[in-house]
Amino acid sequence: MLKISDLTKKFGAFQALNVGQIDIPRGQVTGIVGPNGAGKTTLFNTVGGAFRPDTGQVMLDGTDITGLPPHKLAEQGLVRTFQISRDLGALTILENLLLARPGQLGESITASLFSRARIRAEEENAVEQARTLLERVDLWRLADQSAANLSGGQKKLLEVLRAMMLSPKVILLDEPAAGVAPTMEGVLADFILSLKAEGVTFAIVEHDMEMIERLCDSVYVMTEGREMMHGSFHEVTSDPRVLEAYLGS
Ligand code: ADP
Repeated sequence: MLKISDLTKKFGAFQALNVGQIDIPRGQVTGIVGPNGAGKTTLFNTVGGAFRPDTGQVMLDGTDITGLPPHKLAEQGLVRTFQISRDLGALTILENLLLARPGQLGESITASLFSRARIRAEEENAVEQARTLLERVDLWRLADQSAANLSGGQKKLLEVLRAMMLSPKVILLDEPAAGVAPTMEGVLADFILSLKAEGVTFAIVEHDMEMIERLCDSVYVMTEGREMMHGSFHEVTSDPRVLEAYLGS
């Protein structure tokens, strides 16, 4: 589904990313792990459109998406989750989902000169889509409350729902377990796996190895900007080179 080839990114003279080949298979959850500074965030930033790569290629379902900005990537079916920031916390839960769709408001204003009825129908569809998503994770009853009041786990669910508003093929998920209470980790993991069962493909950067084990069909280990190893959770966690990379960091 997502093929990352020969992807490099430098900051000044520092080579932060130097990936040979990372494949994220369709309908699977692929983990990206590695010690701090290994380049995991830079990989997501470069694939997710925050940075342009210096060299290399990213293919999404057969289409070259290298260097596209986030809103173009979303149109193609690739979405990266972001932490619910303080600004988003000021909005209600429902507003967070409705505003997850880029360009909706501006397009509505222009287009509304021509077709108010069509716009109204689109907005109703978006609310319906948001409601369906929120009901799945038992957040619809809180739809009009400020997102700032949500627990860490509920915020993570909201991040995934915001991505799902774009009906993506692939979600790049940033540290789903960070700041999440242990009881909510299971809820979050089950929701991610239910989306996977519906065909959504995930790449996940995560430090929590229990979450990686629970979610991932396979795992890439990164060190020093490169993909050092790829295998099952068991294979990578029992490999002495991986242990050494973590201890050496
Ligand atoms: P990880 O997410 O695996 O902890 P990062 O991708 O954040 O690793 O960082 C990889 C390396 O690139 C680190 O040495 C980091 O200091 C450096 N780096 C990341 N982003 C920038 C940036 N915007 N400018 C300069 N150096 C950066």
